[in-house]
Amino acid sequence: MLVALAGGVGAARFLSGLVRVVPEDVLTVIVNTADDETFWGLKVSPDLDTITYTLAGCVHPEQGWGRVDETFTVIDGLARFGCDAWFRLGDHDLSTHLFRTSRLAEGATLAEVTEEITRAWGLQPKLLPMSNDRVATRVTIRDDDGSLTNLAMQDWFVKERSRGPVTAVDFDGAMEASPAPGVLEAIATADTVIVCPSNPVISIGPILAIPGIREALKERRDRVVGISPIIAGAPVKGPADKLMAPLGIEVTCVGVARAYADFCGTLVIDSLDARHTTAIEELGVHAVVTNTLMTDARVSAALAQCTLEAVA
Ligand code: GDP
Ligand code: CA
Repeated sequence: MLVALAGGVGAARFLSGLVRVVPEDVLTVIVNTADDETFWGLKVSPDLDTITYTLAGCVHPEQGWGRVDETFTVIDGLARFGCDAWFRLGDHDLSTHLFRTSRLAEGATLAEVTEEITRAWGLQPKLLPMSNDRVATRVTIRDDDGSLTNLAMQDWFVKERSRGPVTAVDFDGAMEASPAPGVLEAIATADTVIVCPSNPVISIGPILAIPGIREALKERRDRVVGISPIIAGAPVKGPADKLMAPLGIEVTCVGVARAYADFCGTLVIDSLDARHTTAIEELGVHAVVTNTLMTDARVSAALAQCTLEAVA
């Protein structure tokens, strides 16, 4: 059995390669839900949906999230009422949020709805939300006048276009949350646990913040392998650098290795970062060098193969 810890786009690209090199039904993916937000009364789970659409083969290929061939009739219709629809939910995508919201209102848990959604798409891998409880990433930024503004993750990332400087990141509700049923068991019994190339602060960070998960990973440190989302001192895409630096995490694969060192015994880094191997090994983390820039599914599959062999 294989377990992967995942955020959204970076993770989804990696997982689409992984399912080419292992039987799909051996895979359990534990997904960040701290980006979840309610829009127009609808429960949106961006990372779960990105992974579902990617594995189902219906994701927007360039964007990496949302559905391919999407239309925006409903959201554009809201403009008539003077609504500021800055979070662009597509018409097809809305059906997922309508279904999720109605099932949650009927009393289903997020894990149950996720199982129903992935079954409807015919997915073989098991997707588990990190928790059934509400956890919400909050980002604090400093304005020009020195005042601090505390924003919900999507407000900061989408509406405010990841404006900085960031002074703090918090995971509201994490300390009171429990891992979703099956999460700790999956980690404890997995042959290998993969930490996908995802944002270390706001994708992997919230999963680690739920009491019990980091401890469970530490128990399996020899079997945990990560892939650095930072290549040559920068994220491939997204705001990881704006979040890592203020938290004292160096924006390099060495910084990632240091942040993960207590629970992750092996880190796969990019060929461009080969010179950092010694610094990573000095942290007690085994470093494996390969091409990690996932330009297509073939590269993702080769990266997945290399990642599995790194702990074979
Ligand atoms: P999000 O929730 O959609 O932001 O998704 P993730 O947290 O899973 O992915 C964002 C992270 O993935 C960023 O830090 C990127 O640097 C990383 N990433 C995206 N594409 C690649 C890639 O091709 N290779 C590597 N190594 N990292 C990538
Ligand atoms: Ca996300």
